[in-house]
Amino acid sequence: MTTSFALGDVVAAPGELVHGWFELATLPTGHRERLPIVLVRGREPGPTVWVTANIHGDEVTGLSVIHALLEADLADRLRGTLVAIPSLNPAGLHARQRVSYLDRRDPNRLFPDFPPEPGQGSDHPAVLEAGYARLFAEMRRADYLVDLHCYGLRACCFIIRDRVLYRRPEDLPAARELADRLDALCNWTGLPVVNEIPSDRYLQARLHRSVSGTALLQARIPAITVELGLTGAVDPAARQAGIIACRNVLRGAGMLPGELEPMVGIPIPRVEFPVMRDLVPRARDRHRPLPRRARRPRVRRRPPRHPQRHPRAPAAGRRRRAGRRRRLGPRPPARRPLLRGRGGGPHGRPRHRPAGRARPELRPRERPLTRLPDRACPSDHARTDMPVRTCPEGQSSNSGTGTSVVSFRRVCSSSMSAGFTP
Ligand SMILES: [Zn+2]
Repeated sequence: MTTSFALGDVVAAPGELVHGWFELATLPTGHRERLPIVLVRGREPGPTVWVTANIHGDEVTGLSVIHALLEADLADRLRGTLVAIPSLNPAGLHARQRVSYLDRRDPNRLFPDFPPEPGQGSDHPAVLEAGYARLFAEMRRADYLVDLHCYGLRACCFIIRDRVLYRRPEDLPAARELADRLDALCNWTGLPVVNEIPSDRYLQARLHRSVSGTALLQARIPAITVELGLTGAVDPAARQAGIIACRNVLRGAGMLPGELEPMVGIPIPRVEFPVMRDLVPRARDRHRPLPRRARRPRVRRRPPRHPQRHPRAPAAGRRRRAGRRRRLGPRPPARRPLLRGRGGGPHGRPRHRPAGRARPELRPRERPLTRLPDRACPSDHARTDMPVRTCPEGQSSNSGTGTSVVSFRRVCSSSMSAGFTP
């Protein structure tokens, strides 16, 4: 490999591990919001993997994982390029809060939305949205992405696997190929896999604008969200699990030598069926049947009127429309769209849709998104005989991590854990 890799204000030559900054936003007050970046460029060619953390400012275990991953001799052993961003939300980290003080919305929903239809989405983006859009443009160069999070107190470590969505039937083979690569990425980590919520709720919750959702659905890069235990402090067992998972990704991608490491030190739930994320853990009610696969609602179509049996005078419709016009006044003239659409009607308007009336869909797109079916949890090489370990409440550990994580004494009011539902 002879070329260098540039990101932000830094360039990594082959065999180098360099530190730099990515400018996220500059405010009129003079405040500059910058992301710390670390580039590791191997001497041999290979894939590019991004490992990011701390998009939620109070989820700090990922920072510690990245610091442990960046060993001094990593550039000598690595093939390809590792891009590590220990904090995607430095403002939230400073304030020890989930959100940034620059934008009170969830930062993991501020990555770019799907491209708007012509003539729509003209609002100016927030500064963080604009900054994350520039970062996402760089992220498109990646081959794999791992975004490190924390789920909550007493939660086990697991992967949230975004659903692979596609629009047109001819996109199905590419979607299947992407899903296979995504499953391989999940399998390399050794962590249990939890599928994301159903796609309609996923889009309503704007999860397609998360770090992994944007990378997967728009850049079509295999991308996962890794949840590493409690928030607000570093759980040593979850930290070790995160280090093993990230090293295994580098090994699976052929960037580090050696076999995949077994996942040790954390509980691995024994589930042999696909599981889905839920707000709360659910208990099985023996008197209820197991939930069946969600079916599409059946659309009832009115049978066509037979012209002989249901005659309707053409003048009746005209009289009805004239009466409506008298009540409501004349209809305002339809605005001409900015660009020519695909409809083929006058001014690019579809022929079947009345002028000026919006599409009644969640997102005005050409085709609805379709999802691939769920898959079983790929954790074959994960050890399942480890005892269950939990971190004591409020305990912080940063021994040997090189990071300064402030210990906190807040005890969560509720014990959260990953919900496993068949
Ligand atoms: Zn998070």
